Amino acid sequence: MRRWLVRPALYTGPMSSEQPSIFSRIIAREIPADIVHETDTLIAFRDINPQAALHLLVVPKTEAYRTVVELATGDPALLAELVALAQQLADTHADGDFRLLFNTGAGANQTVFHVHAHVLAGGLTEGSLAH
Ligand code: 5GP
Repeated sequence: MRRWLVRPALYTGPMSSEQPSIFSRIIAREIPADIVHETDTLIAFRDINPQAALHLLVVPKTEAYRTVVELATGDPALLAELVALAQQLADTHADGDFRLLFNTGAGANQTVFHVHAHVLAGGLTEGSLAH
């Protein structure tokens, strides 16, 4: 009986066989960014197009996960680390309150398919989750 060695059809796979993502190029210091924190597994830097007084991106250094759903399934401990770092950054750079946003899928405006969290803080008074 023939067995599938790879998952068929909908499986998009890790990005390692593709070009490095823009965030991997920031991690490799090939592209400049305002990096505010780095650990063995995560990097945090200011979004180039800020949507709040504080707008950071927290990015796992691995490109293995395209979305937060893949990260939650594949490495929940790393997702928990990311959330804890978001809190630490909001404590350090704002008043500790923050919005954590993962655009998931092109239809939700995800443009970089290397999982990342938006950490938004400061002046979040618009009363709407989305514009
Ligand atoms: P997404 O739309 O995928 O949820 O978020 C991607 C984010 O990456 C956007 O908010 C965009 O402004 C940010 N971004 C894209 N390219 C760069 C870059 O080269 N440097 C920095 N610092 N942010 C970037």
